[in-house]
Amino acid sequence: MDQHTGYVKVLVGGRGEKSGNRTLNRATDSPRQPGSSIKPLAAYGPALDTGAITLASAIDDSPYYYSSGQLVKNFTAGEYRGLMTVREAIYRSQNVPAVKVLTLITPQVGFNYLEKFGISTLVSPQKAINGSHDIVQPLALGGMTLGVTNIDMTAAYAAIANHGTYTKPVYYTAVYDYKGNLLLDNSSSETHTVLKEQTAWLLTSALESVITQGTGTSAALSNQPVAGKTGTTNNETDKWFCGFTPYYTASIWLGYDDNSKVLSKSISHTKIWQTIMSQIHEGLSTGEFTQPSGIVTAQVCSQSGKLAVAGLCDEDPRGSQVITEYFSADNVPTEECDTHVKVTICNDSGDIASAGCTNTSTRVYIKKSSSGTASDEESSYSAYDSSYAITDEKLSRLCSLHNGSNASAVKPGSQTTEASQAVTTPSNTAGTTAANNNGTNGNTSNTTGTSAAHNNNQSSSAAQNPTTASQNWNTAE
Ligand SMILES: [Zn+2]
Ligand SMILES: [Zn+2]
Repeated sequence: MDQHTGYVKVLVGGRGEKSGNRTLNRATDSPRQPGSSIKPLAAYGPALDTGAITLASAIDDSPYYYSSGQLVKNFTAGEYRGLMTVREAIYRSQNVPAVKVLTLITPQVGFNYLEKFGISTLVSPQKAINGSHDIVQPLALGGMTLGVTNIDMTAAYAAIANHGTYTKPVYYTAVYDYKGNLLLDNSSSETHTVLKEQTAWLLTSALESVITQGTGTSAALSNQPVAGKTGTTNNETDKWFCGFTPYYTASIWLGYDDNSKVLSKSISHTKIWQTIMSQIHEGLSTGEFTQPSGIVTAQVCSQSGKLAVAGLCDEDPRGSQVITEYFSADNVPTEECDTHVKVTICNDSGDIASAGCTNTSTRVYIKKSSSGTASDEESSYSAYDSSYAITDEKLSRLCSLHNGSNASAVKPGSQTTEASQAVTTPSNTAGTTAANNNGTNGNTSNTTGTSAAHNNNQSSSAAQNPTTASQNWNTAE
């Protein structure tokens, strides 16, 4: 499809020897489960468009449950990679972040966007089939009642390629009778806006990462940039690749009509797409996905998606987590990273050091809401970054071996800003107010019982704040 006009250039409804006329056309008439190829349309695109996320938003790829109580599994079961940016979640095609993002914007909003993208096989609750409809969390992963058709997916991706504007597929422009009289005029396209132009470009940028470093590397073309997304269903009965260049959009689906066989691993859907598209683009000059106005870059922390803090985000034990990302100018992070914390641990007890602890070590952790572990009947899982993470529960636990008076989590000489961030959360509860103001803006708090900390340049926020930690976080995803 030419995304600029909506003209369908080629449509292949099946392979092999032609056996009849007007037989099943798989490109237009076979709704199939889209798998992960739906993620940009149902979850990430809408969430970027509504400002709920940025490409840098950090989503915790850790064990997570649907509201039904069922564990969300990644493509590789048990592979939970921990905090990752939306861009990484897209190019690695991890499932948990997609479900979390759809849950954040609500399945209803995702459904509404799919309607705008022209997906014609959606099932609303009013038209539920055997109780099944598509306004559900698994929609994020392509768990749909009927599925989608190839032409609808192609037109939807063409809308991303066409700066966010959808064009209804055009199969012919005019029909004349034998005398040359115009019988049907189909030359004017039906179009409408789905995504803001900035959203479309940001999403395209992330979909380029799928090709350059993600699940779709085999789709790369030698003379054009490519953006796209893979999709594979649970039992590998359907494989999709939907993608576009600056010229054309194409989707490929592989599968058996009756799901009778599992697709051979040796068949590469991305390679087939690449083979077809490289022929189509032969001789065309190298195009580009033109950046619209209203896009800016910013240096942020990959573990929080917020502005990087020197001495924290660049001192992650795994290496600096400071990245540069593109943002819509109206949705640039303004808050500083509150995921990275510098914590002093008492080596004797393993708990947060108090003033009386002498054998301590200090390092930067990432603060997470839970331990990131889960189990099902088969195995137990934990996120890859769990050894770098510290929970609010742990942050609230002061060393009881040496817990003398006026405990402090911070060694003399440490910067107070780090101390504040080390053990507090951005909540509005008493106690954190003092910590947040300590040594920063001098905004004197009236909170009783915590004012002592203001005059104490060696912040004692750990001691005063142990109970507030878990109250106001776990909202980011
Ligand atoms: Zn950080
Ligand atoms: Zn101790």
